[in-house]
Amino acid sequence: MESLRPARLADCIGQKRVRENLRMDIDAALVGGRAVKHLLFHGPPGLGKTTLSRIVAAEMDSDCTEFAAPTLDDPSALVKTLVNMRECDVLFVDEIHRLPPRAQETLYPALEDGILPNSRYELDPFTFIGATTRLDLVAAPLRDRFGELYRMRFYEQDEMEQVVERTARLIELVIDGDGVAEIARRARGTPRIANRLTMNVRDYAVVQASGRGVTDSDVEDVMRARGIDSLGLTDDDRELLQALYNAGGKPIGIETLAAVISAEPSEVQRVNEPFLLRAGLIERTSKGRVITSEGRLHIALGD
Ligand code: ADP
Repeated sequence: MESLRPARLADCIGQKRVRENLRMDIDAALVGGRAVKHLLFHGPPGLGKTTLSRIVAAEMDSDCTEFAAPTLDDPSALVKTLVNMRECDVLFVDEIHRLPPRAQETLYPALEDGILPNSRYELDPFTFIGATTRLDLVAAPLRDRFGELYRMRFYEQDEMEQVVERTARLIELVIDGDGVAEIARRARGTPRIANRLTMNVRDYAVVQASGRGVTDSDVEDVMRARGIDSLGLTDDDRELLQALYNAGGKPIGIETLAAVISAEPSEVQRVNEPFLLRAGLIERTSKGRVITSEGRLHIALGD
């Protein structure tokens, strides 16, 4: 999976606005001989936040050290990393909305004044990059310490096709244009899902289609077997939609909705809801979530 990640900005597909601005941030830093400003990437999982963070380090010819925020409860690893970082290195913290208070206390003076708390120890200028799927949960004081906030968007169909084509090439899957389009359509605008589906299709091809290229009807077979429908919805997504359908247009609160698939409300908000909203299948109201006419049609058609 690792080798599927684009290594440079020029290898990245989609996210045009983010890419162009990031290019400017990096070039400004290179010309000025300083570290790139602190960046916050936000948006649904699998859209490329980690990938872009590593790319910032690669473009600066620097190292990237990564943490998941909840693991920083004991900030000693963070202190050690900060002390060891060289100029222009990147410190990447994922799920930044879950940064424990003690880690925040360590980080704030480092970001503000380039020092460790209660010490005069001067750190080399570095770039701090945070990623989050829930910008609404990032505390304002932390948010204010980033030089730039970048919102990652779902990818368009033509961009998804490029992602699938690239991945198919890298994993040596022979597939025609219709097959590529079919995978792209079912990948929910998300490269991570596109990669997974393309690998599922490759596994199928190895067993079922040895010696011939894969077509869209092969892709349909694989997707059917995996419970992924024509829009890319999973069983969970469809159960959520079905519950809203059954409610006959009445809003359902996020807690009740999450209970339908035995998930945490935060998980539904992070994983399922963004794409259902973006696909126009549901809407958020002050009283809860409601199904749209398109959502109703999708359930009625049964695929
Ligand atoms: P996030 O950190 O937002 O959850 P990742 O950076 O881990 O997402 O990306 C998930 C996968 O999607 C990566 O392994 C990579 O292969 C692929 N990917 C991400 N962004 C792109 C892109 N712009 N072009 C092509 N593939 C991408």
